[in-house]
Amino acid sequence: MTKLAVVAVGGNSLILDETKRAVQDQYTAAWESMKHIAGMIQSGWAVVVTHGNGPQVGFILRRSELSRHELHEVPLDSCGADTQGAIGYMFQKALRNEFKRRNLKKEAVTVVTQVLVDRNDPAFQSPSKPIGSFMDETTATQKRDSEGWNVVEDAGRGWRRVVASPLPKQIIERAAIENLIRAGFVVISTGGGGIPVIEDESGDLIGMEAVIDKDFASSLLANSIQADLFVISTAVEKVALNYNRPSQQWLDKLTLAEARRYQAEGHFAKGSMGPKIQAVIWYLERGGKQALITNPENIGRALAGETGTWIVP
Ligand code: ADP
Ligand code: MG
Repeated sequence: MTKLAVVAVGGNSLILDETKRAVQDQYTAAWESMKHIAGMIQSGWAVVVTHGNGPQVGFILRRSELSRHELHEVPLDSCGADTQGAIGYMFQKALRNEFKRRNLKKEAVTVVTQVLVDRNDPAFQSPSKPIGSFMDETTATQKRDSEGWNVVEDAGRGWRRVVASPLPKQIIERAAIENLIRAGFVVISTGGGGIPVIEDESGDLIGMEAVIDKDFASSLLANSIQADLFVISTAVEKVALNYNRPSQQWLDKLTLAEARRYQAEGHFAKGSMGPKIQAVIWYLERGGKQALITNPENIGRALAGETGTWIVP
């Protein structure tokens, strides 16, 4: 039987260089990652691709800011939907072109994905995730009073809007994703961690101005569709202990217990590798079988057991 993998593609893989951020450049970068995912599919894996959207949401917010005198602003849940569509389109196009080159009879499709969060999640009481441009104090105070934004001073670099980053609870479109996989489609889903929604008293969904961690949401998705493998494709070939220090030590294999211990010892940086390891820990705790962290170009070799960091129960 075909094995199923969830592959989470990092935002870094889409913006290779600060001077090359235009849509065409993003497409070139996306294609590079999709080549390696196509290789994985060619070797027999069924794949669901998830992705980050931090920089892309930043661009939309900035555009919105600059055109405020003329056009409405775009709420954050809508920015999420916009980027899922645009990035999904890039991935679909790149995968289709890559499948054609490889003579693979496969098709990719994007599912705009909502992710349920708890409206009582404590994160809503202490928004901490910075988004959008830096502002001066006057603008920040104005936005706080007029739009109800939460704003904070960011380490001497200026003021920024912060939003809540609640934990993902349920993938709303799970059944659709599963049916598409069963029908043989390569599915792109849960982009940017999914669009955060809550349920109101009557059970209606309401989009939230919040951001879900894409590694956490991808982990939940992997369990929800009972994936055999959870791959986190990022900028490093392996995870390290004492990263960037003289005593740095690359890791080939980690048990769940070791992952927990090294995480507690602070080996994995907070905004980057930390959430990836946490996502893997949760995936394994919820019954996941194995996880892999590596970079796009090494996915094939890692699947052959030659590199990457493998984490097992
Ligand atoms: P993504 O866009 O894929 O989510 P991040 O930048 O958030 O990527 O996280 C990946 C980065 O984490 C790596 O490029 C690396 O610089 C950093 N990192 C922090 N701690 C470690 C560690 N212990 N081992 C390997 N990489 C680490
Ligand atoms: Mg990240």
